[in-house]
Amino acid sequence: MASQEIEALSSALARLPGLGPRSARRAVLWLVKNREGALPALLEALDAVSQQLVECEICGNVDTADPCGICSDPKRDARQLCVVEDVSDVWALDRARLFRGRYHVLGGRLSALDGVGPDDLNIASLMDRVAGGAVDEVVLAMNATLEGQTTAHYLAERLESHPLRITQLAHGLPVGGELDYLDEGTLAQALRARRPVE
Ligand SMILES: [Zn+2]
Repeated sequence: MASQEIEALSSALARLPGLGPRSARRAVLWLVKNREGALPALLEALDAVSQQLVECEICGNVDTADPCGICSDPKRDARQLCVVEDVSDVWALDRARLFRGRYHVLGGRLSALDGVGPDDLNIASLMDRVAGGAVDEVVLAMNATLEGQTTAHYLAERLESHPLRITQLAHGLPVGGELDYLDEGTLAQALRARRPVE
């Protein structure tokens, strides 16, 4: 029987995505063994996250300031808006440093199965942002899943009446991806989006 403290930490960690009870127990054991080396930094980081992070009221990003660093950066093009499902998508796209506009986080995707409708996502605030006419292009950067694409189609329809360019990420073969390892959806999408050989 593990101590009550270890059980409590294990079950707290086991709730993290991708970390089941087994890996949680292993992580706790590692933390106990490396108490002096690893715990202070972890505690400090957790405390900072808990104390300082806020959700940006404009775009839904999570940062230490509201508006977030991206929304308040004058060097970023406010006329380009990239719409994503989750905050992690903002971070992934921004790590790639390819997009110099701003973002809008929906907070999920439409899903009949999970009972997620348009009112459950940050769609009204997206419409408000484009209604002012300050946006030239909306990039729909949904995941290449069925629900992601349903969401993208829905948004494209809602945005249609506004005088702006609506674009979508091209989905296809990931760089370095071997055909053998791709799922059928990706492969089908890549085939449909095929272009002439240059
Ligand atoms: Zn923001």
